[in-house]
Amino acid sequence: MKIVFASRNKNKYREMRDVFAPMGVELLYSLDFDIQPEVDETGNSYEENSLLKARAWSMSLGIPALADDSGLEVLALGGAPGIHSARIVPGTDQDRMNWLLLKMENIKDRRARFVSCIAIVFPDREKPLVYEARCSGTIALKPAGLSGFGYDPIFMPDGYDKTFSELGDHIKTKISHRALAIKGIAEMLVPVLQYYAVRTMENSRSVQEQ
Ligand code: IMP
Repeated sequence: MKIVFASRNKNKYREMRDVFAPMGVELLYSLDFDIQPEVDETGNSYEENSLLKARAWSMSLGIPALADDSGLEVLALGGAPGIHSARIVPGTDQDRMNWLLLKMENIKDRRARFVSCIAIVFPDREKPLVYEARCSGTIALKPAGLSGFGYDPIFMPDGYDKTFSELGDHIKTKISHRALAIKGIAEMLVPVLQYYAVRTMENSRSVQEQ
């Protein structure tokens, strides 16, 4: 089965492609298509946003589409920046990290979690697949480490005394919110692939019988 990945983020694409390939799923990269649907992320949740993106891409291209949405939730800030993580303040990732560190200057409770939701929409199936996963941790007092993106230099996952940036991709891709969501959605996809395989077999049998 071919599924288009409805995001321009090449790192995420590679991470997901490598998980799906052994399952017989070819993940296609969005920028390889001439059609580029513009999707406003107007949903009120990660699930709504990932479904908006997956639906738009699946409808435009007529093939299954996978989309993700993610964010960082800080307990003492009532879950902010949450679904607004990418745009909570204008500027760069560095600006957003500085905003968060400033907000938390006098806050002792630094518990936080990353959330990732992945949705797959099929053009000929009413019900999409949706899986949401979390990675809990704390916000560091200052940035540390060079790898990764977004809030990686200030997020320390539970069980480690280093930030995601210091831990690097080889650990992050095992324990992160996204890694867990990819694993979860891949498991949900198995019976759907079986359903399509059986349907294809039955269709080809009925063509031969005609
Ligand atoms: P998106 O779902 O990829 O658009 O992510 C939304 C925003 O959440 C990103 O722009 C980052 O600021 C933040 N974010 C999501 N996942 C991560 C991560 O794994 N590390 C660091 N920041 C992340």
